[in-house]
Amino acid sequence: MYEKFQQYLQKELDTIKADGLYKEERIIESAQSAEIMVKGKKCLNFCANNYLGLADNPELIKAAKEGMDARGFGMASVRFICGCQDMHKKLEKKIAEFFGTEDTILYAAAFDANGGVFEPLLTAEDAIISDALNHASIIDGVRLCKAERYRYANGDMADLEEQLKAAQKNRFRLIVTDGVFSMDGNVCPLDKIYELAQKYDAMVMVDESHSAGVVGKTGRGVTERYNLRGKIEILTGTLGKAFGGAMGGFTTGKKEIIDMLRQRSRPYLFSNSMAPGLVAAGCRMFDMMAETNELQDRLHENTDYFLRRMKEEGFDCKPSESAICAVMIYDAAKSQVYAAKMQERGIFVTGFYYPVVPKGQARIRVQLSAAHKREHLDQCIEAFKAVRAEIEGK
Ligand SMILES: *Cc1c(COP(=O)(O)O)cnc(C)c1O
Repeated sequence: MYEKFQQYLQKELDTIKADGLYKEERIIESAQSAEIMVKGKKCLNFCANNYLGLADNPELIKAAKEGMDARGFGMASVRFICGCQDMHKKLEKKIAEFFGTEDTILYAAAFDANGGVFEPLLTAEDAIISDALNHASIIDGVRLCKAERYRYANGDMADLEEQLKAAQKNRFRLIVTDGVFSMDGNVCPLDKIYELAQKYDAMVMVDESHSAGVVGKTGRGVTERYNLRGKIEILTGTLGKAFGGAMGGFTTGKKEIIDMLRQRSRPYLFSNSMAPGLVAAGCRMFDMMAETNELQDRLHENTDYFLRRMKEEGFDCKPSESAICAVMIYDAAKSQVYAAKMQERGIFVTGFYYPVVPKGQARIRVQLSAAHKREHLDQCIEAFKAVRAEIEGK
């Protein structure tokens, strides 16, 4: 049997390669940071989700070690059997305080939080109205739920209104959106979404994975940005991006919703509890966020500086309110040459093209971090200029 299957797989893999979509891993020989070692060479990293630069933070490493010393290496249980320590409850409380919500439930990852949020709450009588560019984990989560599905074009409020009208026949309505969309770096128009939700009697869920720690004056996410703290029924997010970059996910929001997830959410009921080291570091991380706004301020300074300087140099950057800067190249093949030449110059960025972004909309995605120093940003901008001169002769 396997021989035939092997041939089939090999053919599929060859097609992926021929389409230029085959993913290779770049091997990093250092901790995750602004400066990383690759093949014995120092490179600047502009493609990590390490927005607050906490991935190699000494205080978090110390907290993780102390957490392991005090509470062990693993839990070897799901939460409701014997996988819940005092620290898990503490971390859930700190997340709720950070977002101004009522209660929080932890998961192994945000992928699980999104995978386990719809099915326990909604049935075939209900409606989920989802932004067309929502993250894969939201799409998968929605698939696991029997609710009727509606889709609106990215950030298109006229389309959302049409879908809400169509969904008036359903019992409950839930609008779902990413806080920040990872390809453009645009923030969802939560003020208008909230208004429409009020008008058409719907609830709202925001995935804060790319926005938490980043968006809003103090990095409390899109609910801070739009002055809607405590007003949104469901927020999901990750500890794998701005919040230290290790792993862990959460859903935070109205207390009855969280309570129901503890009863019926399958990734919570049937998957292992978060490891003590990660939980302890997570607690320390939220304490740091409460003590100072220094990292968020530095990130905002870096993103403002980078976007302004790139525009001054004549690069076509998408407007962004996040730590993601999309430098538009438009042509797919050219975007790959750009990314490769940037890498030769020791700058790690990612080129995206169809089908990840629309046809003719190829781009280089730059992700900024509080860990970047001014000279890192300047080196990146200089590399962009040099590569452009090389490719375009100007
Ligand atoms: C990264 C991301 C996730 C997945 O987070 P993990 O904790 O790594 O599973 C989910 N949703 C969005 C919007 C993301 O950007």
